[in-house]
Amino acid sequence: MAALCHCEDCRRAASSDYVSWLGVKRQTIEWSGPRKVYRSSARVERSYCGECGSPLSFEPEVFADETHLYAATLDTPEVYQPTAHIFWSERLPWTCAGDSLPTHEKGLQDAAAKGSKLL
Ligand SMILES: [Zn+2]
Repeated sequence: MAALCHCEDCRRAASSDYVSWLGVKRQTIEWSGPRKVYRSSARVERSYCGECGSPLSFEPEVFADETHLYAATLDTPEVYQPTAHIFWSERLPWTCAGDSLPTHEKGLQDAAAKGSKLL
């Protein structure tokens, strides 16, 4: 999963107009350093670096085996290739996407709750 999320929760957590997510299998991640985890809503945990405060991950209960990483914090973010915009309905009016990626009004969790996969 590689999507640009415009939802208000992500925007506030990252203090940005949208977040570039990269979804990976949770079992493949090996964390090191002072990572802090917090529950950002009833069924979501997010984490950040306890040293510099950079946001690191998003883990919704609905995707129990998946962790979404902030692509902009990766060592080589330039190789990231997003495939879609999600929560397009919540985008800020001054956000300039400037691409031709497909847009989805809602997000992955809404699709999963309805039994389908968005991306
Ligand atoms: Zn979001």
